[in-house]
Amino acid sequence: MPGPDLLPLEEARARILEDVLPLRPVSMPLAECRGRVLAEEAIALITLPPWDNSAMDGYAVRSEDVSRASPETPVTLAVVGEVAAGHEPESGVGERQAMRVLTGGMMPPGADAVVKVEDTDAPEGVAALPQAVAVRAAVESGRDIRRAGSDMRQGDHLLAAGTRIGPAAVAVLAAAGHAQLRVHRVPRVGVIATGDELTPVGEPLGPASIPDSNSEAIAAQVAAAGAEPVRLGIATDDRDVVRERLLEGVRDCDVLVVTGGVSVGAHDLVKEVFAEIGTLDLWRVAIQPGKPLAYGSAPRPDGGYCLLFGLPGNPVSSFVTFELFVRPVLRRLRGEPGDQGRLVIRATLGDEVRKSAARRAFVRVRLETDADGQHIARLAGGQGSHMLSSLALADGLAIIKEGPASVPAGTTVEVIRLDVEIA
Ligand code: AMP
Ligand code: MG
Repeated sequence: MPGPDLLPLEEARARILEDVLPLRPVSMPLAECRGRVLAEEAIALITLPPWDNSAMDGYAVRSEDVSRASPETPVTLAVVGEVAAGHEPESGVGERQAMRVLTGGMMPPGADAVVKVEDTDAPEGVAALPQAVAVRAAVESGRDIRRAGSDMRQGDHLLAAGTRIGPAAVAVLAAAGHAQLRVHRVPRVGVIATGDELTPVGEPLGPASIPDSNSEAIAAQVAAAGAEPVRLGIATDDRDVVRERLLEGVRDCDVLVVTGGVSVGAHDLVKEVFAEIGTLDLWRVAIQPGKPLAYGSAPRPDGGYCLLFGLPGNPVSSFVTFELFVRPVLRRLRGEPGDQGRLVIRATLGDEVRKSAARRAFVRVRLETDADGQHIARLAGGQGSHMLSSLALADGLAIIKEGPASVPAGTTVEVIRLDVEIA
């Protein structure tokens, strides 16, 4: 039941995401791929282990030779050599023979099991190769052998396209022989703040000025979403200045995030500038905070398009609309599956919530757990859209649907966990 000129959230999000496709793949050295998203399936280029090898420091034996071995009745075998990791065995193992093997060492022909050094009379650790070894335990065939291909076989599917390359993926890709990978290009996201009142963080404040916190927050949100922020500074509330700054950003960014100047005030020029340099595709969504969100696009000199987001200037509105609209777009451009990439949990409201009836509210909450292990969502503090202190204390955003203007404590709601990222 949004007001006549307010778009429902789902419709706005669907319209924004409709045309967003992953950025074209690029080829990158593995060392630079962490955090990027695979543009194609990764298969094993080699078989691992490439050959049967020992899982232990010990002696490669024929299991039948030691089938009666025990601490009371050890079986003595002649030691015919040694094979360490990185070397090939110089001979095979014949009847009543053994070869010293180190972990990762290739199994010599003839041997079908490994007796670990602790089950022999040979000294542990660095020691000269003995001529004979007494085996004090029987081993079944195959014991402590890591079989060729037991991890992966050449051609095996390892990781699907769309996988974000974290440290574990780097490990498997390296092991599988990938030095270079096809990954999606990372979106470049221009960040512009508008407002005569804004001063860059760290500079002395004038009598009517406040720090530009949105640029800092947006740049951090962009980076946290795995994209590259491009800081384009502050534009004063002057149409020419705003237009010039946007055109500068459009030239080499995939997305521009502009904060402030999208409401209905006399100095709210951003939507008009979107329409001048490209298109204004939607404005005003039935959410709280963040109603005046504006979205459009502008042609780039290279023939592509830059997506334009005008986020409301109030810091919490800017933060929340980034989370709801910009983050899914950046994820899609990066090639990730799943638009929001956030864990959503169910919780019981611990406090009453008051909101605008016609809009869906995103309420800053702190999560607690009750005696039964159920989540309780309590207001993290004041909910004014200028109140950053409560945002800093919040674990998540409770979603309060369109409908009554007051929702009592005890109501079950969904909470977007701001601190948990999922694929
Ligand atoms: P606006 O959307 O431009 O009407 O701004 C709404 C409110 O957000 C005003 O109180 C602004 O001072 C404040 N605001 C706008 N931009 C920023 C910013 N970059 N950093 C902090 N506060 C801002
Ligand atoms: Mg303003």
